[in-house]
Formats: sequence, structure tokens, C-alpha cells
Amino acid sequence: MEFTDRVLTCIDCGAEFVFTAGEQVFFHDKQFKNDPKRCKQCKAKRVRGNQKVRPETRTTCSECGAETTVPFKPTQGRPVLCRSCFQKQGKLVMAPEAAR
Ligand SMILES: [Zn+2]
Ligand SMILES: [Zn+2]
Repeated sequence: MEFTDRVLTCIDCGAEFVFTAGEQVFFHDKQFKNDPKRCKQCKAKRVRGNQKVRPETRTTCSECGAETTVPFKPTQGRPVLCRSCFQKQGKLVMAPEAAR
């Protein structure tokens, strides 16, 4: 089977990118049915984005009762503060995220 470079359009940024003959051979070997939908940059961005996602736990601020999310599992009995209460209290050590 012969493959030639094809120009596809990225569904994320709309940029045209080349689906090279070599990549088509690879897709054919793997029996991937669908053409790639994203350019290299957007694909890389998605991979990076996925890696950055951290588990967030929904909880309620023990100070003001506002709903907030924390990047860790709150320990029972320990106060969890929303961002603004945390800033007000300042000294309490919470998540590394909020301490930044
Ligand atoms: Zn793109
Ligand atoms: Zn609060």
C-alpha cells in the first residue's frame, strides 16, 4: 500500500499539519481507523494538560462555610480553609498549592 503525505486540519487550533506517509504507515500498522485530529503542538499541550490534573476534593471551609476545593484529602478533625480565609490566617500551613 502506498502512502503520501496528507495535509489535515487541527480540530483544536485550526492549523494545517502534515500527516506524513511515515505516520500513515504507523497508523496502518496499528490499525488505527481514524486520522489524527490534532497538530503536534495541540497534542503535546493535551498530554501536558492531562499530567497537570491533580485530584481535587470538594469540601467546605471550616471558617466561613464557603465551598472550596483542596488539592488533597482533608483529614478528619482538621480545619480546612478556603483561599481567602487561609490568606487571612496566614500562618496555618495548608497545601503547598495555597502556600505558594
Ligand atoms: Zn492544533
Ligand atoms: Zn473561608
